[in-house]
Amino acid sequence: MRVLVVEDETELAAYVKRGLEREGFATDVAGDGELGLEMASTGAYDAVVLDIMLPKLNGYRVCAELRARSNWVPILMLTAKDGEYDEAEALDTGADDYLTKPFSFVVLVAHLRALLRRGGGARPAVLTVGDLRLDPARRSFAVGDDIVALTPTEMAIMEVLMRRGGDVVSKSEILDSCWDWAYDGDVNIVEVYIRYLRKKIDVPYGRTQIQTVRGAGYRLVEHRE
Ligand code: CA
Repeated sequence: MRVLVVEDETELAAYVKRGLEREGFATDVAGDGELGLEMASTGAYDAVVLDIMLPKLNGYRVCAELRARSNWVPILMLTAKDGEYDEAEALDTGADDYLTKPFSFVVLVAHLRALLRRGGGARPAVLTVGDLRLDPARRSFAVGDDIVALTPTEMAIMEVLMRRGGDVVSKSEILDSCWDWAYDGDVNIVEVYIRYLRKKIDVPYGRTQIQTVRGAGYRLVEHRE
């Protein structure tokens, strides 16, 4: 899952980015409204965390402009307590939810996960493919009754493969959803992580659920006894 944080307070932005990445979200930061609008318009994000008081273009205008362009990315707006702006106005401009500053990180993540479930069609809270089970909110993954420990990046890749329900997902799509834009290395890093995943969820169970589709990418197939 990929999140854009539009926030000009650099310390707060860095704190949110670090925290979200620990939770397995690939996170980019835009430091002003114009850049935020431009990045959000690429359509590369599953959700946008949008501050209201921003240089160049305020959060209301960014939000209204995205909606005017028929961009329905879920937006969580950050409002300031006692500010001259309020929550009702945030929702009026097309935000899906709001959070009042200062907020706790745990609450931010809970709001984001709820938005991701609601936004962009049906997103089940817990993903299952055969006996594989991934719970994004609890950051847990299981094969049958075995809880398997995955790193945040491995978890993010499994989430992408599971959400795609057996379709082929290209390496660059995986890279885009699971790494942030600061990573400009080799797309083959994806192969390395697929190998880690196979060692955890295929090899110990004598399966080949993560399949390589030559020249195209990877797909996850349901295991049948
Ligand atoms: Ca601000």
